[in-house]
Amino acid sequence: MFDLHVHAAPDVVGRWGGDVDVVDCYQAAGFRGCVIKGHYDTTAGRAVTAGVGRALRVYGGIVLNRHVGGFNPVAVSAALQHGARVVWLPTADAHTQRAAGLPRLGGAGAGVPDVVYAAPPVDPTTAGPLRTIIRLVADADAVLATGHLSGPEASWVLAEARRAGLRRVLLTHPTYTVPGLTPAAAAELAAQGGHAEVTAYQLLHQPGCGPAMLRKVVEAVGYDRLVLSSDAGQPDSPPPPEALERLVDALAGEGLDRGALRAAASEIPERLVTP
Ligand SMILES: [Zn+2]
Repeated sequence: MFDLHVHAAPDVVGRWGGDVDVVDCYQAAGFRGCVIKGHYDTTAGRAVTAGVGRALRVYGGIVLNRHVGGFNPVAVSAALQHGARVVWLPTADAHTQRAAGLPRLGGAGAGVPDVVYAAPPVDPTTAGPLRTIIRLVADADAVLATGHLSGPEASWVLAEARRAGLRRVLLTHPTYTVPGLTPAAAAELAAQGGHAEVTAYQLLHQPGCGPAMLRKVVEAVGYDRLVLSSDAGQPDSPPPPEALERLVDALAGEGLDRGALRAAASEIPERLVTP
């Protein structure tokens, strides 16, 4: 298996374990690799350190939240030079996060700007830097993930990615509370040239979400455009490999093809992220 989305300490909130603990437990579970994500930290270098001497691949990336000033091409360029394999568009500092009343996680403190970010068509002024970022990710042949941006913004990003020849686009958990798309809307975006992510976090923590809802997402998107990842690492979630296995089990329990589900949690994400 290959987990394209896991959180580890150090982080701005408590985590299940540190980078090395998380990689240890994937190794013990026989995983082929993982991608460590930090909403407020570039994990490219951390991934290199945690992956030294390992049989499994450990990758990192950068999330474009306030700590890098949002759509900042310099931060993206530097992260890619450090070996980042995934660039996530804003998550906790996306405008959708504030609108949904969800926690911003990091960047608190007196005098710290409470800005949020939006892509076109919501905020047309970000088109320039965002086009530069898409070009940088395309040139590095890395993955661009849509973060918590809304459906119309993800659609704009997909069109620009196509224009730039960017082959690797991941729709970050499109049916989670943010961006809160329907399975049909997620499928429509995936058909424009992206992979759609379904996470164990949704199964474990998303209000109103259960196996039946996630089955509908899988059915709408189709197995070849599907990525199953854990998005685990919360102190109250199972160990990340177990969280991902639980997601596969829950969906298989809904009558879906276990072999195809396992591919969506192994070969497909591995191929998506591997240079
Ligand atoms: Zn996450």
